[in-house]
Amino acid sequence: MQWEMVVGLEVHAQMNTNTKIFCGCSTSFGSDPNTQVCPVCLGLPGALPVLNKKVVDYAIKVGLATECKVAGMSRFARKNYFYPDLPKGYQISQFELPILEFGRIGVVDDEGNPKDIGITRIHMEEDAGKLIHPETPGCNYSLVDLNRACVPLIEIVSEPDIRSAKEASQYAKKLREILIYLGVCDGNMNEGSLRIDANVSVRPVGQKEFGTRSETKNVNSFRFLEQAIEYERERQIDLLEEGGVVVQETRLFDSVKGVTKGMRSKEEAHDYRYFPDPDLLPLVIDDEWIERMKGELPELPEARRARFTSDFGLSGDDSDLICQSRDMADFFEQTVKLHNDPKAVANWIMGSIMRDMNKEGLESVADAPITPEHIAGMLDLVKAGTISSTIAKEVFDHMWATGKSARDVVEEKGLVQVTDTSEIEAIVDKILAANPDEVEQYKGGKTKLMGFFVGQIMRESRGKANPGVVNQLLKAKLES
Ligand code: ADP
Ligand code: MG
Ligand code: ZN
Repeated sequence: MQWEMVVGLEVHAQMNTNTKIFCGCSTSFGSDPNTQVCPVCLGLPGALPVLNKKVVDYAIKVGLATECKVAGMSRFARKNYFYPDLPKGYQISQFELPILEFGRIGVVDDEGNPKDIGITRIHMEEDAGKLIHPETPGCNYSLVDLNRACVPLIEIVSEPDIRSAKEASQYAKKLREILIYLGVCDGNMNEGSLRIDANVSVRPVGQKEFGTRSETKNVNSFRFLEQAIEYERERQIDLLEEGGVVVQETRLFDSVKGVTKGMRSKEEAHDYRYFPDPDLLPLVIDDEWIERMKGELPELPEARRARFTSDFGLSGDDSDLICQSRDMADFFEQTVKLHNDPKAVANWIMGSIMRDMNKEGLESVADAPITPEHIAGMLDLVKAGTISSTIAKEVFDHMWATGKSARDVVEEKGLVQVTDTSEIEAIVDKILAANPDEVEQYKGGKTKLMGFFVGQIMRESRGKANPGVVNQLLKAKLES
């Protein structure tokens, strides 16, 4: 039997507003437990929620960027369930009237053909608190931190259009990129700003109806997402081929073992007893609001990539890599403005800069010790012949370590390239005098010794001799 996999993703993205979605408490990450709470987010009786308009702005932008239809009227609903991290006993979410519907994100399928993944809906909701289970031996209680309660989220629900793990991770990456470009979510998967749940089912090829799905929760990297989906595919196929059935359940991915594990049987919507939240008015969004948000949209990653290949002549792979982060793409453009050699700038970014960022675990080039001015200044010096490209690598390392400008580094370290012929000639003479045997062999026809001489001379000049001048002088002397 041939099987086909069907996948739909639910992504929760934290909106990076300064304050929570229904109260004025701070949303900053990492504060002491229960220091960012008030009667509203603690769910105390009588406290009333007030909608944070900024969250609506952000949601509209996400909707526009993913070609959703913005609802003229949407509504908040109560999703009722009991859990110790949910003080009100319900989560304020949206149900039958979400703010956004019918969007899409483009991916490339496993055969290399472009394909759309539909977005069913995007809705706004509040986050729950966090339970902390102390690992002290013998400890038989848990602690509750409500700092995260009422932090604004949007949930982006895809259509079951995805057919492979690669398509799933592409979709999720593109979505993350869009959120980051819009500046509405920091996309940090380790801190839980972006959480992905994968719904997976399989069916015999040719069958119309979908199979029963499992939902694997909170997969916190793209690699784990692919692993979890592949694992589920295999597990479900094995189960069905042995004559078993897939049960609809919530599963957790164990990233150490690379397996998913059953957690609980899945609730149905009616278990939540949704109903409109009487404390919040219906949300009305008029055309003027939508137009205003359109006006604030930045250039999106797809468009920017295309422009980087057409305007700057970068290859598709290079512009993909640089546009992966908005900060990096900005860095690139600012540097090119200062030193108009896109290919050279791209090479420095993809080489030394990305290497050092990786080494130091920097997420954003904005946190790196070098700026577009540093790189452009260095490239100016290379172009002017003041330093060679070999020396530029040394200059880069000093700039990175000290934050000093290229010019200052070159001056302080005496790295100026020697182009003065008489100075270089002295070194050439010295090397030739020190290696009489090699000179003889060269004159006898062993011309590949040229490289040996150049190497010696460059070493003697500590890399500063202008290679062009060296070659010219050396040839003249050896062949005279
Ligand atoms: P729930 O709250 O029950 O998880 P949602 O409507 O929020 O329901 O999300 C359902 C998700 O599961 C969507 O992304 C949808 O595309 C996906 N999905 C639905 N049915 C299947 C199926 N048979 N196989 C795989 N994915 C599915
Ligand atoms: Mg779900
Ligand atoms: Zn609060």
